[in-house]
Amino acid sequence: MRLRKDVNVYLFDPTRKYFHIVIELENVPGALRSVLEVMHGLNLNILGSFTSVDSAARLGVWSGFVEDSDHSAMDLKRRLGASPVVHDAMVVESNKGFLVDSLHFPVTFNTGTRAVMMGAKSLASMLSSVTERFGSGGNVILYEEGASYGRELGQEYLLRMGADFIMANFEDVVKLYQALGWFKVEGVKAGPNWEQVVVRVAESFECSGVESKVPHSHFVRGHLEGMLTSWLGSPMECKETLCIARGDKACEFVLTPRPA
Ligand SMILES: [Zn+2]
Repeated sequence: MRLRKDVNVYLFDPTRKYFHIVIELENVPGALRSVLEVMHGLNLNILGSFTSVDSAARLGVWSGFVEDSDHSAMDLKRRLGASPVVHDAMVVESNKGFLVDSLHFPVTFNTGTRAVMMGAKSLASMLSSVTERFGSGGNVILYEEGASYGRELGQEYLLRMGADFIMANFEDVVKLYQALGWFKVEGVKAGPNWEQVVVRVAESFECSGVESKVPHSHFVRGHLEGMLTSWLGSPMECKETLCIARGDKACEFVLTPRPA
């Protein structure tokens, strides 16, 4: 199964006509199906979509990029708005084959936390440029930036889930990194008293496509340290013992208590 998580940002093909359709509908069983049936009747080709739900207001939003050649934006808005479950419909047509999501803001995780998206390759280049410019001092800066972010995010997860749940379900909670697209979690091992934690990951955004004689990860390594320091409530340190940038099969991070 294709498990990539796509977020609609823009489409561009001067030979095609696209629409961005956003529908606010009642959050009742069958509502989405009835709207999708209307779109099926209009012969719209859905290229990517998402739904979000406001349980308190009993409303849902369906948003999608679609391809079409026979309808106007006004026509689509009228046809979709006629459905009894639809409260409101917005339709934006592409300009010379260019369609950008100009409707949704801010971007949030499903928890409601605001997010910003950046290309993984560009972000990795930005981090690498600090090492290229400042050498080992740059690595320390990247590590501290990662640790600061990790501590902050670790505190957010602590508030939401509590330390007891996080520590009892550590292997699952570490998969939050995978959900955010940072890396795939291949294996997690934690000693009984947290005297050593090993996290083995694939396709880390920081190390993918990089060639290096030494382990390359400083930002992610610091982030893991910051996160675990938050959760355990005592300072940890993190070393990268295997790295794909050096030709190893995976990146492996070993976390241990920071010596006093
Ligand atoms: Zn690595």
